[in-house]
Amino acid sequence: MRERFEGIVLFKRKHREHDALVKIFTAAYGTKMFFVKRLEKPNHPMGSQLIPLTMNEYIGTINQEGLSFLTEASTIQFNRLVQSDYTVQAYAAYISQLVDSVVDDNVPNLLVYELFKLALALLNEGKSPEIIATYIEIYLLKGFGVQLKWDACVICGAKQQPFDFSIRQHGVLCQQHFSEDEFRLHISPKAMYITSLLAQIKLEQVQTVNVSQETLAEIRRLMDEIYKEYVGIRLKSKSYLDQMLEKDRKFIQMLKRDKPTAE
Ligand SMILES: [Zn+2]
Repeated sequence: MRERFEGIVLFKRKHREHDALVKIFTAAYGTKMFFVKRLEKPNHPMGSQLIPLTMNEYIGTINQEGLSFLTEASTIQFNRLVQSDYTVQAYAAYISQLVDSVVDDNVPNLLVYELFKLALALLNEGKSPEIIATYIEIYLLKGFGVQLKWDACVICGAKQQPFDFSIRQHGVLCQQHFSEDEFRLHISPKAMYITSLLAQIKLEQVQTVNVSQETLAEIRRLMDEIYKEYVGIRLKSKSYLDQMLEKDRKFIQMLKRDKPTAE
């Protein structure tokens, strides 16, 4: 039976010479793989609705298992900034791979779908991609089976900051209990403050106030440690993002070095 449904394209890959397999996160049926004939040929009628990270309405045949099929598509949200800005796109691609890793195929997951949709909308509005990605990383931890305490010290329940993060204790430590973990991560208080706040608010409440590059780098170090220690997945889009960040870091260092000094 033909169905009408909304979805966000996760990725597409070439199949045989002219066809493609497109994975779409649909609101109603979860993530599904679609077979699209002749998509690799120019001027395919659904070409612009099968670009990764766009949101569209589709008409097609949904099969519970195996491949599903599409007959028509119309654009709901093209996400122009996500498509055109390479930094924003790299973060969006990373978020989409995280989402794809955490949800089970062919099982509806409206909560994660709506979150993903909102994250793309915020990225497209120009909100800080670092902060949005961190929010999603924290939110999805539960889906990866990781429960962390962010709002108060794991040992005594104190909410008084500064906090630091303890991998061993699965959460934050207050200053009184820094000694409970000799391998605490020594994350800067500002980065801990922002991350702990992100863990406690809704995505629509995220305000991207000016956060310095140093603080963003600290937040990245924290999230990388958490994902390395508890989740242990290595995503291609994340390696790409890391290379990009490394290039930016070197570029900033170069600019600083070349800055003329006032006599
Ligand atoms: Zn404490």
